[in-house]
Amino acid sequence: MRTLVSGGAGFIGSNLVDALVARGDEVTVIDDLSSGTRENLAGALDAGAELRVGDIRDREAVEEAFAAAKPELVFHLAAQMDVRRSMEDPGFDASVNVVGTANLLDAARRHEVARFVNTSTGGAIYGETDVMPTPETVTPEPVSPYGQSKQCAELYCGWAGRLYGLPTVTLRYGNVYGPRQDPAGEAGVIAIFCGRVLDGERPIVFGDGTATRDYTYVSDIVAANIAAADNAGAAGAFNIGTGVESSVLEMIEALRKGAELEELEPEFKPARKGELERSSLDVSLAERELGFKAAVSLDEGIALTLDSLR
Ligand code: NAD
Repeated sequence: MRTLVSGGAGFIGSNLVDALVARGDEVTVIDDLSSGTRENLAGALDAGAELRVGDIRDREAVEEAFAAAKPELVFHLAAQMDVRRSMEDPGFDASVNVVGTANLLDAARRHEVARFVNTSTGGAIYGETDVMPTPETVTPEPVSPYGQSKQCAELYCGWAGRLYGLPTVTLRYGNVYGPRQDPAGEAGVIAIFCGRVLDGERPIVFGDGTATRDYTYVSDIVAANIAAADNAGAAGAFNIGTGVESSVLEMIEALRKGAELEELEPEFKPARKGELERSSLDVSLAERELGFKAAVSLDEGIALTLDSLR
């Protein structure tokens, strides 16, 4: 299968590229390396994958990547994915997440791509809903510009389907963690905490630590992408997570055990605007229609993440 992965040099994208290369796909990556790295793709490039350094906001760069790759399948992961940066500069966030997605969809329909797997968020998109766990039928009311741009990108997928018959499917991930997530980055709380713990520092919690998330290990996200691509009939949006709601304090306890520490006392700072109090995903639709079920528990995933950072 000829496959194009946008954002394939990033944390999740590069893990997906490795799996695609392993199953024998001819993989081309388009990535501007703004947060992704060539190093993330080292193994895949050695195995024959192609990296085209380009910005998805640039229509010509996107066209050139499609013309070179002739993809049958597209996974779209490139994004501005930092919630706080989206608060500071919503216009920039929209330019990458909305304009970039529109460019990819337009190229995909012109090149008659058979399947377009879009990436969204199961956290930021729903906002502060009372429906817990949250199914896909809850109307998104995002609080952050990031959630808003991701919702908008999903709507563009609907448009490309209606106007051109482009077969798209969207995956709304929980809070993803695992190898290659940047512990020095601004996003990715588990990577940041793992990095601090291995440096002998305390995790910094914004708020009182009761905020919840569906922490999902990256290999499960990769499996969900492959299931969504293989399931030709699946359309619309799917929550992808473990279905387990964990508080920050519970996650820190898993980290304490994983790092084999007697105690791990976080440092508390005031909660930040735009961050959700609760996020809990109803993942039953993906199980029914994609046959996807997360396999890695939080304890296992944290142990694997610590190992990768050591
Ligand atoms: P990441 O920052 O590691 O990956 C994003 C990739 O996109 C990077 O390689 C970056 O260089 C590239 N990119 C950014 N802007 C670009 C542009 N204009 N043109 C081309 N490439 C560009 O982040 P990630 O965590 O791997 O996220 C991948 C996808 O998953 C994103 O769409 C993100 O919104 C989504 N997502 C992530 C999480 C999570 O917890 N990490 C949760 C929900 C959804």
